[in-house]
Order: sequence, then C-alpha cells, then structure tokens
Amino acid sequence: MTATTDAPAPICDVHEEIDAHWPYIQNILEDLRQVSDPDIDEPISKGTDNDDWEELTSLAIPQTTAQPLTKVVQEAYHIFDHRMRTNHPTFFSFIPSNSTELSWIGDILVSAFNAHTGGRIASAGPCGVETALVEWLASKINFPSTAGGLFVSGGSMANLMAMVIARDQALPKGTHSRGIIYVGDQVHYSITKAARILGFDEEQVRQIKCGTSFQIIPQDLQKQIREDKQNGLIPFLVVATFGCTETGAIDPIDEISEIVSREGLWLHVDGAFGASVALSSSRQGMASVLGHAHSVSWDAHKWLFQTYGCGMLLVHDKSKLVSSFHSKADIIDREGRLEPEVGEFWDLGIELTRPSRAMRLWFTLRVLGEERIGRWIDHGPNLTEIIQSCLEEIPCWEIVSRASLGILNFRYNPGGMTEEELAKLNEQIRQAMLASNTAALMTTKLQGKLALRICCITTHLTREHAVNLVRALDQTAKIQYDPTAVLQK
Ligand SMILES: *Cc1c(COP(=O)(O)O)cnc(C)c1O
Repeated sequence: MTATTDAPAPICDVHEEIDAHWPYIQNILEDLRQVSDPDIDEPISKGTDNDDWEELTSLAIPQTTAQPLTKVVQEAYHIFDHRMRTNHPTFFSFIPSNSTELSWIGDILVSAFNAHTGGRIASAGPCGVETALVEWLASKINFPSTAGGLFVSGGSMANLMAMVIARDQALPKGTHSRGIIYVGDQVHYSITKAARILGFDEEQVRQIKCGTSFQIIPQDLQKQIREDKQNGLIPFLVVATFGCTETGAIDPIDEISEIVSREGLWLHVDGAFGASVALSSSRQGMASVLGHAHSVSWDAHKWLFQTYGCGMLLVHDKSKLVSSFHSKADIIDREGRLEPEVGEFWDLGIELTRPSRAMRLWFTLRVLGEERIGRWIDHGPNLTEIIQSCLEEIPCWEIVSRASLGILNFRYNPGGMTEEELAKLNEQIRQAMLASNTAALMTTKLQGKLALRICCITTHLTREHAVNLVRALDQTAKIQYDPTAVLQK
C-alpha cells in the first residue's frame, strides 16, 4: 500500500460555530455574574421531584446529531438551577461557599491557559507562584523556612496525604498492624475515612472523648498513649482539629504538641476550615499554634472565598513530602527532573497532571490585598458574635456551643420538655426557616443535645441582617412551639 498524499483536513471544525455565537458567549459572563452572587430573596435551595429527575437525567447523554451551542448553554443553566445555593447570603449550613466573582474569574484564566502544573519544566510561571505562595501562607501559620506544600483538591485529600507522610515518618516498617492514630470525638470524617483507605482498622483509631468545650482533653490523650505503648502497640499519629466543622472548636494544640514531641509522634492539624483565620485582620494571632504541627490541611474553598476544588497541604519540613511522594520514573527523569525544592509538584503529591489551583487563589489575594481579605475573613465571625449576644438577651434560647470562628450552636428550650421533644421542636424550626426561605441552618447533635448550627463566613450581611435573623428565629420558634398562642396575640 502506498501512502496517500492527500492529508486529511483538520477535524476540529468548531471554530466557525464559536465565531457565530461569540456575542452570545460573551454574554454568558453577564449571566454568571448574577448567579454567582444571589440576591437574598432568591430561593436558597431547589431540589428535584421525580419528574424533574427524569427530565434532568435525560439531558445527560449526547444526541446523535449536533445541538446548537446556545441551546446547550440554556440546558446547563437549567441543570445547575437544581441545587442548594451554598453561596446564598443566608445559607449557614455545611461550610457555606462565599466564593466571589474574583475566584471564578481566576478560574477562567486557569482553565483557558490550562497549564500543566505537574512540574516546573511544564509551567515555570505557575509553579513558581505556587511554590512562593505556599511558602508565604506557611509563614502565616508560623512554619519555618524549611516548610512547603502544595495545592490539592480539598481537605479530604490533604488529610489523606498528611496521614501517608505520618505513617512513613513515624511508624516503623513492618509494624502497620500495631500502629495507633489518636483523634478527638469531634474529628472530621475524612480522617477516619483516610485511615481506612490506608489500611488501618477501626480499632487502630482511638477517639479521645472531648470535654464540654468540644476539645480533646490532653491528659486523656496522654493516658491513652501510655496505655497503648504498655500494651505493645505503636502510637504514631495525633490528629488535632483547628476549627471543628460542627462547633468551630480548636483543640489545645500547645499541650497536644508537648505530648506528641515527648512521645515521638506525628502531629497533623486539620485546619481545613479554621486555618484561614491566619489571614484575618483581628484574629490572626489565634493561628500561631499551628506552627507546632508537622502538617496542616487548609481549604481555600471555604474561608478564603474560592470556588470548590482548592485546598492545601502544608508541611513543616518540605523534604518529608518528597520522601513520601517521590517515585522514580524514567519518563520524568528523561525530561530533566529538577530539584523538588524548586516546584516539581509531581514529587510532592499524588497527582501528575494537575490544574493551577494556586493561580486562582493568587488572583483573589493579589486583587484584594492582605488588609482587605483580612477584613473579609473577620466579618462573618463578628456577625456570629452579634447573633450570639442577641440570642442571649431573649428568653428560652440556650447556647449549646459558643461562637468560635463563625460557628455557633444553639437551641430553643422553653423548659419542661424532654430531650426528644426538644430535638423535634428544633428540627421543626430548622425546616420552617428553610421553607420560608429565611435561612438554611443545620442541626447537629452535641453531647446528647440536638442544636441548630450556623456557620457564618459571609461578606454580604450587615448587623441589621443578623438582628433580623434572630428575630425571625424567635418568631418561628414560638409558632412551632405553640401555634395557637401566637395566633391569639
Ligand atoms: C471541610 C472539612 C474537611 C474536608 O474537606 P473537603 O475540602 O470537603 O474535602 C476536613 N476537615 C474539616 C475540619 C473540614 O471542615
């Protein structure tokens, strides 16, 4: 057979379509600006009923023939419409997403350039920024100049990677089945999940019961470690939390770090939510204890206002990342491997091909500047403290866990009710608040009490909004408690 001289024409024949729709495509930014910044009157949540579900899932697969671009964009709007607005100003459930336009404008840049940030050889610019930005963030949590880290998809990934390093550094080879991990009973479930992924049994994770302030009790931790050592087990890792998801509580990291260094363990601090306080204007001092950790998880897609998929793992000593994640690979070595210290991210983590998540956060930080983002970070917790003092001033409201890093738990407790009745009443209050589109709260069970939980890291609300929220809560609670009493008034 002889090769034909007619080379096939390029197959990427979409440019004309894009050209034809370009004015429409430019308008997409206009639409997105609105959806990414919902008005307070817009619905907080939109789910699906069975019919919606069928209709939505029918859109999932491509049709045999091409569809007009404009139609498909409309389909995307329709699909995304069915979601909880985690960025709604009165969404206080989970950890809200207060991602701003800045974050997704940064995303557009990251996506369009699509730099391969596996290593400096592939994208010197973004890898250089990632290295330097991570070092700057590490200095904010009191880490020394040996520190380093990398951007990852989120807290779950950062926690998993930290536990890989802890295992490699602090658990002697061949002793896996005797290794013991210590966590508080308020620990995030991604930690227990990571332990399982790493092949540790449930019995190898010791849950230390927290005290009334939802923090690990150091004496209990010390006692358990001694006991386990006496029984021939090998304690190797303590996971403390800086900003528990349920309560915002901060474990006593100073005291825990003393125990950890005395006993020769690894200290990982899960700061997925809380570590951002290191950049706040008035609370940054709180973060200095993080310097005692060997590794820290930190999510930028929570309290640094980024869109999802932007977290970090920071380690006290960057060489430990290389020890766990470097793997000899001919293809990479052939291309010319540089020293890991200079931004060879494929040697620092699990991913090879990775987007430049760092450039996204860089964009926001660079536009806002340190002072401004500091005030943004403080705003939510300041409002939470206002909500707490308002609740304390009106009868029947009980604070279950005090405001910490913008998280507050409370409940309506008019007296004379059993725990079960109180749980039902407060759950009704949560539902009514959502049904009236006033606010999305979460319920959580804390030491036997069902509480209403808010996490407030918004930049959108005012003191007046906070006061109105408490007023609405009180009215809703009264109606739920005794509908007739309110109607008679
Ligand atoms: C959110 C959170 C995680 C999990 O992080 P993802 O980014 O959701 O994977 C872990 N720990 C704490 C304390 C968190 O708040």
